[in-house]
Amino acid sequence: TAVRKPLIAGNWKMNLNHLEGIALVQKLAFTLPEKYYAHVEVAVVPPFTALRSVQTLIDGDRLSVVLGAQDLAAEDAGAYTGDVSGTMLAKLGVTYVLVGHSERRQYHHETDEILAAKVVAAYRNGLVPILCVGEGLEVREAGNQVEHAVAQLRSALTGITAEQAASLVLAYEPIWAIGTGRVATPADAQEVCGALRVALADLFGPEVAGGVRILYGGSVKSSNVSEIVEQPDVDGALVGGASLDGTEFATLAANA
Ligand code: PEP
Repeated sequence: TAVRKPLIAGNWKMNLNHLEGIALVQKLAFTLPEKYYAHVEVAVVPPFTALRSVQTLIDGDRLSVVLGAQDLAAEDAGAYTGDVSGTMLAKLGVTYVLVGHSERRQYHHETDEILAAKVVAAYRNGLVPILCVGEGLEVREAGNQVEHAVAQLRSALTGITAEQAASLVLAYEPIWAIGTGRVATPADAQEVCGALRVALADLFGPEVAGGVRILYGGSVKSSNVSEIVEQPDVDGALVGGASLDGTEFATLAANA
């Protein structure tokens, strides 16, 4: 893990309006002293409606926190009512974009094919995808979590080059651990994250694979983050619930 700077990314999901978002980032900045950013990269991933306000705050106060978005369209512009493109996100100063979060896969029926196109769209616009993979409870109970995550990885990355893959971020998020309070054990997280790195090496070579950050996500809190990010192939966390409180999220980042 030594060469890879840990990333702690807070996915707000459909929470916080733009004013609440500003308040949270101000609290985060107040609670997490600048010195921590030498050891950990911290990103917030607000809903689309709060991106502009949070970006203005980050820019105006020269904060070290980085901006991410929760989704992007596969196309850059056109007749796609309700969608937001990577081109638009890049213009707003967005760095990261989640692709294939389990809630998008489940509630918006995002297929492997759509996700592969979204990964390509992110790179086309200079954004870094945080590609989310992870199994449901049935797959876990059948013992097929590694095969499942690796298959999702391979299908989502069909359209990208090794050069692009070098900046990729992955997130292993077992669905049974998301928002349930049931965190994976550090060994469970390591098993799948390690297998994902082997798959990356197979696709893009060991050097690229060695530089990719692989996050764990699923009920991460300030109290359990350190044992998870201590694992050799876990390079940070994607955080839902615990990212909605500025003090808790700052403590979590400090403990990473
Ligand atoms: C998530 O949905 O990305 C997530 C990890 O949620 P939580 O931390 O609330 O389990």
